[in-house]
Amino acid sequence: MNLKKVSINTALPGKPRARVLIVYTGGTFGMTYDKAGALIPFDFTYILDQLPTLKNLALEITAFSFENPIDSSNISIDHWQLIGKIIFDQYDHHDGFVVLHGTDTMAYTASALSFMLEGLNKPVIFTGAQLPISEPRSDARENLITALDIASAYKDGFPIISEVCIYFDYELLRGNRSKKVESMQFDAFDSGNYPPLAKAGVKINYNYAVIRQVNQFTNLVLRSSFETNIAILKLFPGIDRYVVSALLAIQDLKAIVIETYGSGNAPTLPWLQESLRDAIELGIIVLNISQCSGGRVMQGRYATGRQLQEIGVISGADMTTEAAVTKLMLLIGEHGTEKARDLIGLSLAGELTP
Ligand code: ASP
Repeated sequence: MNLKKVSINTALPGKPRARVLIVYTGGTFGMTYDKAGALIPFDFTYILDQLPTLKNLALEITAFSFENPIDSSNISIDHWQLIGKIIFDQYDHHDGFVVLHGTDTMAYTASALSFMLEGLNKPVIFTGAQLPISEPRSDARENLITALDIASAYKDGFPIISEVCIYFDYELLRGNRSKKVESMQFDAFDSGNYPPLAKAGVKINYNYAVIRQVNQFTNLVLRSSFETNIAILKLFPGIDRYVVSALLAIQDLKAIVIETYGSGNAPTLPWLQESLRDAIELGIIVLNISQCSGGRVMQGRYATGRQLQEIGVISGADMTTEAAVTKLMLLIGEHGTEKARDLIGLSLAGELTP
């Protein structure tokens, strides 16, 4: 995958306040109109034409732009590895990072990066837009300016944020707690199980009590091996046994996320129990994630959840499906299924409440 590098010193002739790296991947954010009036991805080299107020931020900005920006529905593991490698390679030379990404899969990429960047102690802020930057009413300008502000915010010599976040529509959310919840309004993201880390009004108000405190002296380690042979099974009343058995019969399947009802409940159908028990006995990780976007899995609360616990289904606590899937892929890819089973229920990057 080819990259284009663009350097913009918005501070000249003064001294930059901070150095921020932008990774531009595509999405609605960067769409502009060609001469025939069709929407095409814009060339990031011209960002200052679209956003002259960038100059007032006094930042030294380096941007790595995908040569062929993508709709985020086309995001792949290769792209995650590339974004991770750029941040890892540039880590010591920058104070913070902003990733411009389509909104559709932003929560998956932000979750994946939160697990890939082990020991992260600088801000990595994802943002994008619901309306292209070329549109007069676009949300792209505010989202980018504030994301840059957050990515360069320091207090007492340390970054205020030292985790992977999504900034969108005046809210800063933990990346691996976020979900895309809205496709037409500007408030595209929500983190039902975790409060916003900051709200941007006249000032940016950081909620220090919920911001992840990490050891500022840890070294960054990049984890980037993914196992993709995993599946998601969303339960619904009337689900057919053959659908379930077909999924569990996938050759060499490593893990399955079951999206259950409420606090982690599933029908007490003997065939469902047997299929899941057989899968667990074969070494497949079965992880229980609730279909609710708020609350948590408590497998002992109802008989319909306790039966899952009894056969060895692992509780996913209050993780999002996006966090669960990316965490499983990375843990199995990096450490193998045995160790992944031990680690999946632990909070590795603030993605669950133990
Ligand atoms: N389809 C677009 C994408 O995810 C939507 C967006 O960016 O808002 O790339």
